[in-house]
Amino acid sequence: MSMKIPVYFSTAYSVDGGFDTVGKATVVARSLVDDPIVGVELVEPRPVDLELLRVVHDPSYVDQVLAGERGQFTEHGPEFVASVLASTGGAVAAVESALANGGFAGSLSSGLHHARYDHDSGYCTFNGLVVGAVRALELGATRVLIIDFDAHCGGGTASLIERLSDRDVVGIEQVDVSVSSFDNYPSRPGVSCRVVGGTDYLGAVDEALASVTDPEFVDLVIYNAGMDAHENAGGAPGVTTEVIRQREARVFEWATRHGCPVAWVLAGGYSSARFPVDEVARLHRITAEQAARCQEKSTMTAASATD
Ligand SMILES: [Zn+2]
Repeated sequence: MSMKIPVYFSTAYSVDGGFDTVGKATVVARSLVDDPIVGVELVEPRPVDLELLRVVHDPSYVDQVLAGERGQFTEHGPEFVASVLASTGGAVAAVESALANGGFAGSLSSGLHHARYDHDSGYCTFNGLVVGAVRALELGATRVLIIDFDAHCGGGTASLIERLSDRDVVGIEQVDVSVSSFDNYPSRPGVSCRVVGGTDYLGAVDEALASVTDPEFVDLVIYNAGMDAHENAGGAPGVTTEVIRQREARVFEWATRHGCPVAWVLAGGYSSARFPVDEVARLHRITAEQAARCQEKSTMTAASATD
């Protein structure tokens, strides 16, 4: 019997009346309760360990965020502090689960990849992608690949990977496909970014995945599954719902083919007057749907191989 894919969520992730980054997780979770995806279950995570945060971020910045003095969305006060600790904890929980079980796991966390060592940026306070990657290294992983398909470049992540590697914390790589050059950074070995138009999007996704050397030796993928590349959710013309579905299918099929566990998180995807938050949530469901579809397919293949 195959294990269900855990998707981590706590009501603490969301802030009442908050912007999409700190609001939409509840809408996605409600959608997963009202209209469940077979093979997927919601699981409550623990808040992030503060010592782990202090490995990735400046300890005094961490303390200032805890005091409600720094970070995005501080106008929400203690509710925001609880939100960022819960959602960063969810990203870590997804990493721990995927690594322990060798399959897929997700968290409805968002607002991660622009966060820097000692400051917040672009709706991101703590970089849950790098926090999760460092946790994976602590648990014995030697190669962790961050796949960032949010509309914007993950410059915060790239800067943290570089900073850690200067301190001999090595083994974190990143491939990035974006439709906006916001937070762009120079590519270097193991860390690369492609900024493309909507019509070149899936080709760039394929190229990015093909550029990963020896993928069978990647111990864990952390996937920043942004929906803001979608033409109606803040992104580029040509990136339709079907393109997003293809993108998610290609990520999980590539990971399955190379035996890579995947922990995914939400990232951008913004509602507007003509694209309500329920539509944004429907896009985010596609990530869970494609993970479940790939897991089901690989379980069936494994079962028929033993017949
Ligand atoms: Zn974005």
